[in-house]
Amino acid sequence: MIDLEIKGFIPNTMLDWEGMLASTLFLPRCNFRCPFCQNPDLVLHPERLETVPLESVKFYIAEREGWVEGVCITGGEPCLHTDLPRLCAELKSLGVGVKLDTNSSVPEMLARLIEEGLVDYVSVDVKAPLEPAAYRLATGTDRADLLELVERGIGIVRDSGVAHEFRTTVVPMMHGPAEVAKMAEYLSGEERYVLQYFSPGDTIDPRYSSLRPFTEEDMEGMLAEARRFIPGTVVRGAPAGLDQ
Ligand code: SF4
Repeated sequence: MIDLEIKGFIPNTMLDWEGMLASTLFLPRCNFRCPFCQNPDLVLHPERLETVPLESVKFYIAEREGWVEGVCITGGEPCLHTDLPRLCAELKSLGVGVKLDTNSSVPEMLARLIEEGLVDYVSVDVKAPLEPAAYRLATGTDRADLLELVERGIGIVRDSGVAHEFRTTVVPMMHGPAEVAKMAEYLSGEERYVLQYFSPGDTIDPRYSSLRPFTEEDMEGMLAEARRFIPGTVVRGAPAGLDQ
């Protein structure tokens, strides 16, 4: 039996894995406390969320063989779960690809999943410029080895040959053109970098709940900065009412 609880299941989505019809699984708990996190229950109170039986997920996918092409595993931070490799293996045995969303702070698990061929795509959230104070602020996490862990994780993904993307949710009051330029410079050489709109809603720090999202013009300014270092940078996820 796989010792891991699934706390959310989206049966079909075209949004979570570009070009793929996928299902998405949400795993609970996180080692970060990003103030702008939009999954506060998943991170802080997973016991409030209903557990989705893995068997029902597998049944759904198996019934749609050849239809569902991949499964996205997101969180929380999926790499905290020691049984994640077994979950990935079970999903792959159904003939689907596996995409992992991670904050890259658990490098040993990331390395293992990649080495064992258990993930087909990795999406890494870069929270802030790779500087101690900025990362502490963006992640609400104060541990001495934070940046070292994150950088090791990023390095593992960059050196892996596995399809991947780096992405940043750009948050008013936290990011601007200068921060985006620093992150893109750090990642230069990558083919792709994604800037995601932050959209207000439930957040870990309630002060972020009512922030006005960046405008299209704001995003274009940050996009231009990022493209100085990574020409393939794109913007994703404009809130309703804003065109990309
Ligand atoms: S936004 Fe931060 S706190 Fe929320 S799940 Fe992602 S890494 Fe964890």
